[in-house]
Amino acid sequence: MSAAGREREPAVSECDVLVAGSGPAGLTAGLFAARHGRSTIVLGTQPGGSLLTIAQIDDFPGAPEGVAGYDLGPALQEQALAAGTQIEMAELERLEASDTGWVATSSAGRVVAAATVIVATGTRPRRLGVPGEDRLAGRGISHCASCDGPLHRGRTVVVVGGGDSALLEALELTEFAQRVVVVHRGGSLRAQAVYRERVEQHPKIQVELDTVVEEVLGQDRLAALRLRELGTGAESTFEASGLFVFVGGVAQPEFLDGLPVTDDYGHVVTDAAMGTALPGLFAAGSVRSKFTGQAVTAAGDGATAAVAAHRHLERGAPAFARLPST
Ligand code: NAP
Repeated sequence: MSAAGREREPAVSECDVLVAGSGPAGLTAGLFAARHGRSTIVLGTQPGGSLLTIAQIDDFPGAPEGVAGYDLGPALQEQALAAGTQIEMAELERLEASDTGWVATSSAGRVVAAATVIVATGTRPRRLGVPGEDRLAGRGISHCASCDGPLHRGRTVVVVGGGDSALLEALELTEFAQRVVVVHRGGSLRAQAVYRERVEQHPKIQVELDTVVEEVLGQDRLAALRLRELGTGAESTFEASGLFVFVGGVAQPEFLDGLPVTDDYGHVVTDAAMGTALPGLFAAGSVRSKFTGQAVTAAGDGATAAVAAHRHLERGAPAFARLPST
């Protein structure tokens, strides 16, 4: 572009709907907002967000053979783009209320005046918070079986957690590891029955209930774990080459700091239409309080939020006619 062209470029872009996050919630919100004729920008750094690390999703309606998350994510992005959504590879860094809605600043330095904002930034993996975890992060400790499982071919790994993620990833790890030990603090696993049954019947998987990891041991790489059995208090050292932690997620939309829309855990509180306490601000997916935790419900949240944002604009909130070309 010529220097003159650059000078004419508006300092601030305008859109009807700005979506923060490009997971299933964010991309579906982008798809539906665009299909309702709304100028829409999605900010996100990974097409599909957390779906990208999931090898197989068995419960996405319409995919009876299952679908790889790393296929579904880019497909959702392609569909949102085809509907007219603009996608920018950046994160939402700052958000301020304005007379016409919201002013958002992305990590790429773009400033967007948005009539409505849908927060779909998901969660990041929760850590165990035990000694050695910081020091050995990325040196045997992981939150992704399909990414790091191949490093543990023929070896013993430990998975922590009793939910869907832990069991699904434990099953994935059996493709590589010789032995997978699931360590769960509770007396029973809380994952879907279909995953529990598969885990319980798998010859490579062993489940240790009422047990916690007390410490991660190793010099340059993880070598062993100090475990404690909760009933007896007995401690043991267990040798393993990998620790895969799936103990839930933490929502941290820092750009919402100071706005009265989050609960004590940092999740965004919404009504049934995904609206927050603030006009024109919506949330969708796992960043949301009381989210049910499935790829399909994340997509449902995104669609609901986009329709609600559209209706909000129909009721007379200021809307921006179209996006400037980029
Ligand atoms: P989750 O359902 O919140 O489960 C977290 C697990 O970690 C629980 O078993 C919990 O124990 C345990 N835990 C929490 N903090 C811990 C700590 N500090 N130390 C040790 N253990 C701890 O998280 P998730 O499995 O990541 O799933 C998140 C959501 O996504 C859920 O709604 C889930 O259904 C959904 N999901 C769905 C699929 C699918 O295939 N449909 C796949 C993955 C995830 P307690 O049980 O004792 O609380």
